[in-house]
Amino acid sequence: MEDFPQAIASQTEANYFSPDRILRERETLFSRVDWSDYKSHLRNRVKSQDLNRYFALTDSEKYGLENSVRLNVGTTPYYLSLSDPKDPNCPIRKMIVPQAEESVFSAEESLDPLHEEDLSPVRGLTHMYPDRVLLFSNHECSVYCRHCMRGRKVSSSDERMDVGDLEACFEYIQSHSEISDVVISGGDPLNLSDSKIDWILENLERIPHVKICRIGTRNLVTLPMRITPQLCEILEARNQERLSIFCNTQFNHEKECTDEAKLAILRLLKSGVSVGNQCVILKGINDDGESMLRLHRRLLEMRIRAYYMYDPEVIPGSRGFRTPLAKGLEIIEYMRGKIGGMGIPQFVNDLPGGGGKVTLGPNWYLGFHRETRTHVFKSAVHGTFHLSPEPIGSEYDSKYPELNSELWESIHKKAYSVSRGISLVSEED
Ligand code: SF4
Repeated sequence: MEDFPQAIASQTEANYFSPDRILRERETLFSRVDWSDYKSHLRNRVKSQDLNRYFALTDSEKYGLENSVRLNVGTTPYYLSLSDPKDPNCPIRKMIVPQAEESVFSAEESLDPLHEEDLSPVRGLTHMYPDRVLLFSNHECSVYCRHCMRGRKVSSSDERMDVGDLEACFEYIQSHSEISDVVISGGDPLNLSDSKIDWILENLERIPHVKICRIGTRNLVTLPMRITPQLCEILEARNQERLSIFCNTQFNHEKECTDEAKLAILRLLKSGVSVGNQCVILKGINDDGESMLRLHRRLLEMRIRAYYMYDPEVIPGSRGFRTPLAKGLEIIEYMRGKIGGMGIPQFVNDLPGGGGKVTLGPNWYLGFHRETRTHVFKSAVHGTFHLSPEPIGSEYDSKYPELNSELWESIHKKAYSVSRGISLVSEED
């Protein structure tokens, strides 16, 4: 890798604005936009080098902007307004502005770590699981998230899906009667026009074995005004007996949970489309239990159920975002007991090489004590030990991992069971 501070020093500082000028530039931009009109936000998107008008860029950001090996750079004025122009640690800013690490394509990284292209029988469609396919309807987004796992194709004009490509995808789905669930992703499908979205849904609705359609969109986060009454009318009309439509989105930080986002979610819910959240653990943005807890509390207030929490993918330039696997386990352990179950996401790792998703969690099941046929658990809330008998007559004893006898000796006398419950007052009282 080139020495990034030296490269920056060679650039003229005149390209970069003073903090006061940046605030004025922001005011000018925001006053130019019709805030409730999503098309106005898209027309006024801030792209690439123009970011230096709206942020006091650090050397690392300047270098990242010049030398990113990833997707294009761009943001809506709305999402920009959630960011801090002065604080390089602002979580929203980190999702908008590339850092120097993004310029390094490391040996362990891959453009397509999940092998989505190898599992693509027709252009723009991935068939990994027997009953489900992933349809890439388009490759444009309102904001190009720096952590995007599809940076290999998102924002690239070479990847454009025309009508013929989409028709070939529909034909493939039609000819595979085992497919009942179609995930429409991209890019962001809600960056397509209303009429194109309606046309895609109409085509899926016509295929008798397709029962479920999931729309993956980040516009709820980055351009919530895209959820117009007209779009909701289309979704409601297609979300009927024949086809059930769901929406999966990606809020990563509580700062993204705004009144505008809540209005968009309520509109979707009124059209019968339920909304789930798939966040990504991102270094320095949300990689601790308290940040994730606060995010998921706000999501429940906005009526979004937690769905997945992804371990970041091993994509080019991802070193700045990736976290140790243990972080995800720590986060789930922290959240359990502090928020209702529908606010706790499943921690998933999408296996490199196309193995599909696996869920991971802290181990609250300690094992099976064979002599007494007892399962031993550790409470996520109290840290206490709890015993539960295997049913009499069960033939599954050999399936369970055996509890270490030393551990059994040390805990079984103080453990709780159906006949000995935890008191509401502590034992010292
Ligand atoms: S909106 Fe989704 S597809 Fe688009 S850049 Fe962000 S993460 Fe990638």
